[in-house]
Amino acid sequence: MSDDNNTKNKSNIYDVAIIGGGPAGLTSSTYAARYKLNTIVFSNGFGGVMSSAHKVCNYPGFIDITGMDLANKMMSQAKTLGVNVVFEGIVNITKNDSENIFVVESESQSIRSKKVIVAIGQKRRELNLPREKELVGKGISYCATCDGNFYKEKVVGVIGGSDAAVTAALLLSDVASKVYLIYRKDKLRAVPSWIELVENNKKIEILYNSEVVELIGEEKLEKVKLNTNKEIGLNGLFIEIGSVPNNEFTNKLNINCDEKGLIKVDHNYKTNICGLFAAGDCTDSSDLKQIITACAQGAIAAYTAYKEIIENKWLFDKTYIYIYF
Ligand SMILES: Cc1cc2nc3c(=O)[nH]c(=O)nc-3n(C[C@H](O)[C@H](O)[C@H](O)COP(=O)(O)OP(=O)(O)OC[C@H]3O[C@@H](n4cnc5c(N)ncnc54)[C@H](O)[C@@H]3O)c2cc1C
Repeated sequence: MSDDNNTKNKSNIYDVAIIGGGPAGLTSSTYAARYKLNTIVFSNGFGGVMSSAHKVCNYPGFIDITGMDLANKMMSQAKTLGVNVVFEGIVNITKNDSENIFVVESESQSIRSKKVIVAIGQKRRELNLPREKELVGKGISYCATCDGNFYKEKVVGVIGGSDAAVTAALLLSDVASKVYLIYRKDKLRAVPSWIELVENNKKIEILYNSEVVELIGEEKLEKVKLNTNKEIGLNGLFIEIGSVPNNEFTNKLNINCDEKGLIKVDHNYKTNICGLFAAGDCTDSSDLKQIITACAQGAIAAYTAYKEIIENKWLFDKTYIYIYF
């Protein structure tokens, strides 16, 4: 359902339909709207994974800002420029080659658009342990920012060794009585400034060379078993082990992907499908998967879409004048 009263173009054709409302999609929409393109964003989540970031300290202009605040700012900028934001997932996209138009289907509606920008990010990786799914919300979580406050003065664990895992452990140390940071290797791979903070935090105990092999608890999570045979009593376990590409979506659309499943793009963020672009964490464009790189890619994709639209219009006008005279 649309969250604003912008119903323009309901029966007409949008210039650009953007799939995904994270930093890549929202920046694309801001650029497209400023190029005066009729723009719609579909997203099945608010602000993308950025909104689960406890603190963002590397986005220019902000010494530190919560991911949710940054997401709110990007969202209101897009809406102020007249972008139609619809909080629904896209289930299919087809291309009508004779008209050169995409048909974009969400859970409840279908719209037509000249260009499509795919900015769907990636899916959070799961442990794939028995009982993991049934314990979600009963001790298992994939978002410390969202669920951390449920664990005041409780004992929690965080699995992972990246920036996301380390910052989740720091955030949880503000509320929990004890935080175990469980990592399968012998050295954390987060940026040095975050590592220094966890190492000096008295509430955080880092368990290196450790993997959770069993989730134990009836109604809710009570403890975990490690590969070392050690058992730890836990009220909550936060899984921060990275992300994987959303292959269901890209396979269905026949978008070319690399061996990791990331969408192949050129330097203008074009995919193998003419008129369909991709930006952000879902692409093979850079190993640096960050807010600033997602925004930059979204901006370039919108610019390329805009150039194609005006070039087509110019060609059409020129042909029309030629035929007319
Ligand atoms: C915990 C955490 C902390 C982080 N901290 C930082 C940080 O401090 N600094 C930094 O620069 N980066 C940080 N990152 C990384 C950064 O958040 C990502 O690189 C960035 O959000 C990627 O943007 P994106 O728009 O490509 O994808 P995403 O942010 O993943 O957004 C994709 C959007 O697409 C939507 N979507 C997916 N499929 C569909 C569909 N079929 N239909 C409609 N919508 C769909 C999703 O709901 C989502 O809203 C952090 C990430 C995490 C997880």
